[in-house]
Amino acid sequence: MVPLDFSTMPTYKIIYDRKNCIGVSSCALLADKFWVMNREDDKAVLVGSKTKGHDVWELKIDEKDLEVNKEAARNCPVNVIRIYDEEGKEVSC
Ligand code: SF4
Repeated sequence: MVPLDFSTMPTYKIIYDRKNCIGVSSCALLADKFWVMNREDDKAVLVGSKTKGHDVWELKIDEKDLEVNKEAARNCPVNVIRIYDEEGKEVSC
């Protein structure tokens, strides 16, 4: 059996515009490993992400976590979850 070479697996970047989150929670229902609700301000938290500026959060994911996050992005009513590939092409729409 040929071992998997993880160094060549594509990575993706989630960009979350948190200031425009309206707290509908569908992301947290669909992808609870990545999205949880913060009851203090009723906005979603992208688990493990780093903040970029004040309100834009960013997280790198690999291929195995892409579909579940695409589903979260597609179901966000205000489109504040975007996912980009390594070339900067959006893959979440
Ligand atoms: S689905 Fe969108 S608007 Fe709703 S909590 Fe998640 S990020 Fe915020």
